[in-house]
Amino acid sequence: MLVAGNWKMFKGAHEARAFATRIRHLPERTPGVEVVVCPPFVSLQATLQGLGEGCLVRVYAQNVHWELDGAFTGEVSAPMLLELGVKGAIVGHSERRQHFGESDETVRFRAEAAIEAGLVVIACVGETEAERVAEETGAVLARQVAALPRHERLVIAYEPVWAIGTGRSATPEMAQEAHALIKSLHPSRVLYGGSVKPENALVLLSQPDVDGALVGGASLDPASFEAICLAGAEAAAA
Ligand code: PEP
Repeated sequence: MLVAGNWKMFKGAHEARAFATRIRHLPERTPGVEVVVCPPFVSLQATLQGLGEGCLVRVYAQNVHWELDGAFTGEVSAPMLLELGVKGAIVGHSERRQHFGESDETVRFRAEAAIEAGLVVIACVGETEAERVAEETGAVLARQVAALPRHERLVIAYEPVWAIGTGRSATPEMAQEAHALIKSLHPSRVLYGGSVKPENALVLLSQPDVDGALVGGASLDPASFEAICLAGAEAAAA
């Protein structure tokens, strides 16, 4: 069970350090759960400092470039992240696909390079509302998943676009159905993302093919992030 908090463009270094200090002992209370936080690039180091040496909370970035270095203004490479102590990265988040021209091809480049370098990758897939209404969910997921490399460090996050930041989560049945489809296509763990909160975490995380959660808004508050991780531990123990 993996519960990752995606902080998006929230929390500068000061706030990130304080959050990290607060949750550094959380894994001791959440057996069976890998706890991950994904701060903005500029707050990665402060987060790692707040967690301290030997802490079991892992820090992932929100994106990673496919080249080791070069003339790519605004991008960050896998070796740069590893040098800091970052263990993984999200790639292909729907906000990157929607607003920054991320494509299945660039997601594949990013995922392959990050894995090659030694990072864990959380690769996001998911249909838009229009695609779901048009009954294209299966085809969209199949296309997005086909672009992803197969590797033990590759984790897929199923994040229906209409459920992200809307407060409208997928039903447990919808999540289970999509996860089962993804698992029939790709041998990876599959996290659910889209308006996960303390109130719905347990039922979503208890679905047989749900291996964790990628949490946006509800990961920004330490109390609600802790509650979701505790739900993960309860689901893992069941
Ligand atoms: C996300 O950012 O990946 C996400 C799922 O956001 P939220 O939990 O706010 O819907």
